[in-house]
Amino acid sequence: MTVSATLRVALPVPLPRLFDYLPPPGLDASAVAVGARLRVPFGQREVCGLVVGHGQAEPGVELRAALAAPDAAPLLQGELLASLRWLAGYLHAPLGEVLAAALPAALRRGEPLPDIIRYGWVLNEAGRTALAAMRAGKPKALAMLLAETRAEDWLDETSPGWRAPLRTLRERGLVERVELGETGSGSLPCGSEPDPVSVSFSPNTEQQLAIDAIRAADGFAPFLLDGVTGSGKTEVYLQAIADCLAHGRQALVLVPEIGLTPQALTRFRARLGVPVHALHSGLNDNERAATWLAAASGQARVIVGTRSAVFVPLPEAGLIVVDEEHDGSYKQFDGIRYHARDFAIVRARALAVPVLLGSATPSLETLHNARCGRYELLRLRQRAGAARPPQVRVLDVRKRPLQAGLSEESLAAIRAALDAGGQVLVFRNRRGYAPVLLCHDCGWSAHCPRCSTPERPTAMTVHAHGKRLQCHHCGHRRPSPPACPDCASLALQPQGNGTERIEAELQARFDDVPVIRIDRGSTGQRDGLQKHFDALGNQPGILIGTQMLAKGHDLGNLVLVVVVGIDEGLFSADFRSGEKLAQLLIQVAGRAGRAERPGTVLLQTHHPEHLLLQTLVNGGYHVFADGELALREAAGFPPFAHLALLRAEAKQAEHPLQFLQLAKTLLEGGGIEVHGPLPAPMPRRAGYVRSQLLLAAPARAALHAALDAAVPALYVAPDARRVRWSLDVDPLDL
Ligand code: ADP
Ligand code: ZN
Ligand code: ZN
Repeated sequence: MTVSATLRVALPVPLPRLFDYLPPPGLDASAVAVGARLRVPFGQREVCGLVVGHGQAEPGVELRAALAAPDAAPLLQGELLASLRWLAGYLHAPLGEVLAAALPAALRRGEPLPDIIRYGWVLNEAGRTALAAMRAGKPKALAMLLAETRAEDWLDETSPGWRAPLRTLRERGLVERVELGETGSGSLPCGSEPDPVSVSFSPNTEQQLAIDAIRAADGFAPFLLDGVTGSGKTEVYLQAIADCLAHGRQALVLVPEIGLTPQALTRFRARLGVPVHALHSGLNDNERAATWLAAASGQARVIVGTRSAVFVPLPEAGLIVVDEEHDGSYKQFDGIRYHARDFAIVRARALAVPVLLGSATPSLETLHNARCGRYELLRLRQRAGAARPPQVRVLDVRKRPLQAGLSEESLAAIRAALDAGGQVLVFRNRRGYAPVLLCHDCGWSAHCPRCSTPERPTAMTVHAHGKRLQCHHCGHRRPSPPACPDCASLALQPQGNGTERIEAELQARFDDVPVIRIDRGSTGQRDGLQKHFDALGNQPGILIGTQMLAKGHDLGNLVLVVVVGIDEGLFSADFRSGEKLAQLLIQVAGRAGRAERPGTVLLQTHHPEHLLLQTLVNGGYHVFADGELALREAAGFPPFAHLALLRAEAKQAEHPLQFLQLAKTLLEGGGIEVHGPLPAPMPRRAGYVRSQLLLAAPARAALHAALDAAVPALYVAPDARRVRWSLDVDPLDL
């Protein structure tokens, strides 16, 4: 009897094991490489996994045959496959789910590789003859470019709007379209790339020191580029990337979700002189897959992307940059809960390349690593060029009359800034019209029926000038009641101020200038934001926004920032809330006065003596961070301890508790602390009752050993079937 060769497959199913299959009919197992996709029957379904090994069928064991092997060559291999295996171990997640998360959706589904043939345009015989006699204008400008073959994607990047003049040239029979081969086929006749735009300034001393330090790095070298807002961190990235390109290597740049604006991409494209491939949620599945494959083939030299771009293959890696490394959007909050910054460091180590973490407000984890000497610290202490740091003033608004949350002093400052031709940013981290709808007669207020418990009601936010109620936790919406459901009174009043209400107030008061609200309610992701900025231009006007506005945008004429209603954040229970608030305040303040005109920041508060505000205003972020790190050390919190959070939820309260109790039994005795089960900070959401178990250990190894011992049993426990559960290693929210 012959033993048949089998394929070992990692499938995207929530089971911590691998599966064996016979190769698809007619195919030899050895013809399917490790890292290639395999479509297989799984129960009644068909799923697509990745081959991770080869084996021999055990005698007497019936194996099913795979259905198809779509790839001739491995899709995941080398460093990336090894790093993802490491990640699966670190997150205690099934390898198949981790590998699936790393693939663009189109590839994950097992679809054939997208058509990535590139086309270009070139003048034909007639075109070359006609060129000299053509009248100046757009068609002629394009014709001059097309004296050489130019790829369509190159034209997209360098000559936006080129298709209109192309039509003219085609109608006159002067051009032809040529096939350039696959995206992945390496060097292509795609036309010379745009010349890098030189800038009119040279790096200042601190920038030069940073650039030199990165240039001197050999192999894996983590850097923290700790530079105040507007200090020219991006210029340092650009220089480091240019060096990397000059050595014939690829660069990966991670940016926060909202940071990847067309403005940011244009800056990269204009300065680097090579195509810059963007990877973000605004692309369709095919575009994402094509970019991923272009990185895999080495054709993409610079990839700028949000969180999941950390999974692109980098066969010729030379540098990884993580901009705004403290940003919360680097953490994936469901499914495979990875942290893109942390995984970037793992990959840089495996790839033996420098990794540059940049921020004006580094996370305490990263600061701690820099202080322990694990990361080399590069500092930019001053704003670049002529820009000066903004003046920050704490405005005590106790007992002051407020209009939609704004004090007289703030309103006067806004008027003065506008009259002087400047722009104003009003920051309020609450979407909607008002946070609460209250009955003035009986005290009833509107709560979300799906998220509230008797002990802990969750308010619904008032939207649309009071007409609609919406739960910001589960999305539940309904019209506002015409009268109080408890006492039938008509005295229902929106309490407090969201961005919508502030917008209405400011529009009424400052009707001579544009007043633009920017939040998730008014603005789609990146393009919407850009449209708002373009519409405003440099003229005087007011922007009102949530934290969408806090990040990395360069508004040259912004002279005043008013921060409204941050007091909730001062008294939150989460041990990270101080850090988050400090980062937010510094980043928002950093939007002011980024060009020649000096900037002012007004911080409205009912708690002017609060230590966090005083420390930030008088000492700055680093003094705050010193104090906070000391507190964390004393309390045994990260970065001085390592945490994992096991969450469970179900419609019935006892099911999560039973599951977590079982987990506790499995985890205890492993030399780690186990706290709980406790109700989650939101004990109910969208009808599910939520509990959690917090695990802590002073050393990572102990935590992982305990999890290694316990987690496999959790996947198969009968109690697990009655709950939705997840394990979050290094959780950001407790
Ligand atoms: P950051 O990323 O640290 O917030 P940027 O790199 O966006 O700062 O730089 C802020 C502004 O300063 C930009 O307009 C940039 O062009 C300018 N800038 C950067 N470096 C210099 C320099 N050495 N001299 C003059 N201006 C500079
Ligand atoms: Zn009432
Ligand atoms: Zn809700």
